[in-house]
Amino acid sequence: MARLCIAYDEPVRSTPELQLLLDSAVAGTRITPEQALELYRFAPFHALGRAADQVRRQRFGDQAHLATYLIDRNINYTNVCTTACKFCAFYRAPGHSQGWVRDTEEILHRCSEAVELGATQIMLQGGHHPDFGVEYYENIFAAIKAEYPQLALHSLGASEVEHMSKVSGVSVEESITRIKAAGLDSFAGAGAEILVARPRTEIAPLKESGERWLEIMEIAHGLGVESTATFMMGTGETNAERIEHLRMIRDVQDRTGGFRSFIPWTYQPENNHLKGRTQASVIEYLRMVAVSRLFFDNITHLQGSWLTVGKEVGQLTLHMGADDLGSVMLEENVVSSAGAKHRSNRGELISLIRTSGRIPAQRNTLYEIVELHADPANDPIDDAVVSHFSSIAVDRPILPVVSTS
Ligand code: SF4
Repeated sequence: MARLCIAYDEPVRSTPELQLLLDSAVAGTRITPEQALELYRFAPFHALGRAADQVRRQRFGDQAHLATYLIDRNINYTNVCTTACKFCAFYRAPGHSQGWVRDTEEILHRCSEAVELGATQIMLQGGHHPDFGVEYYENIFAAIKAEYPQLALHSLGASEVEHMSKVSGVSVEESITRIKAAGLDSFAGAGAEILVARPRTEIAPLKESGERWLEIMEIAHGLGVESTATFMMGTGETNAERIEHLRMIRDVQDRTGGFRSFIPWTYQPENNHLKGRTQASVIEYLRMVAVSRLFFDNITHLQGSWLTVGKEVGQLTLHMGADDLGSVMLEENVVSSAGAKHRSNRGELISLIRTSGRIPAQRNTLYEIVELHADPANDPIDDAVVSHFSSIAVDRPILPVVSTS
C-alpha cells in the first residue's frame, strides 16, 4: 500500500514546478485534489509549511498574530456501543461487565466542575447505546442547559444522530431539530474517521458510510447546527485516500459553509482490535496540516492536535497553517484509552503559543476571543486547569455507574 509521503524509488518532482503550485495557492487559486496530492507527497517540507503559514496570515489579516485555545471538558455518558469500531479502545459491547452509563446527576456534577475551572464548552461523547434514542439526548441537553446555560454544548455528531434516529424510529431531520431545541449548540466532528469507503469499511464496518456522515452534517448545517470536521489519519489509508477525505469535506462545505474548522489527528494504536502502530508519522501529520490549510479555502479554522502527536508537534502546527491548538481538555477518555498519553494545562498551552511567536488567546466555541494574553506578566496562574484522563477534574470520589446495557 502506497502510504509513505515520498518513497525513495519515486522521482521527486521538480522544486520549481511545485513552488509554482504553492505560489498559486498562496495567490488564492483553488488547488485541485490532484495538486493537493502532489504537494502532500512531494513539496519540500519547509516550502510547504511557509506557503500554508502565508495563507493563514492572509486569511486572518490583523488577527494573524494570534493563536487560540479553548477550555472544555469531554464528558462520556456511556461506553456501551453496538458499533464496535476496530480502532476504538473505549467502547464495550452491550452486556460486557465493564460497560457503564453515567447518570444525569454525575454528568451535571462534571459540568459544574467544568464551569468552576473556566470551561466554556462541553463535548458530550459516548457509545451507540442500544437503548438511547432521541429522548435520552433531549433530556441530557435540557438538564445541562437548565443548570448551566453559559456552557456551549458542542457535542455528538453524525454517527450519534444516525444511531438515535434508528433507535427512535424518526428521521435525522427530526432528531437534529429536537436535540437542537433541547440545547445542542453545534456538532463535534467526531465519527468522520476517514470518510473514504475502502479504509472506512476496514476500520469501522458497522458505522454509517462516509457519504452518509456528510449527508447528515449537510442536513444539520441546513437546520442551523454548525459543526467541525475531523480526520483520524494513520489506520492504513493511502495518500490518495487521505486527500480524497479532504475533497469530500470541501465539496460539502462549498454547499453549506457549516464546517467551522478542520481537525486532523493521528490514530492511536493501543488496546483496540486494529492494533499495530499508527501509520502516520510526525512528518506526514505536519504535511497534512499544511495541505489542509492550502486545500480548504472554504474552512476558516485549522486545529493542531497536541493530544495525539504531542505538545512540541502541536506547537509546530502553528507554523504549518494552524491557527488553533484546541482545548486544555479537562477530561478526555476516548483517545487516551487508545494510547494518547500527552497531557497539558492552560499555562502550558499559553506558553506553547507564545514561544511559537504568536499571542495566545482563549476562545469560545464560536472562535470569539474570551481572553487575550497579551502580556506574559498577566498570564493566568491556575494550576487546576489541567487535562485529565479517565478521571474527574476535581479530586473527589467518582460516583458509581449504573446499568450496562
Ligand atoms: S468510535 Fe464511537 S461508534 Fe465506534 S466503537 Fe467507539 S464509541 Fe462506538
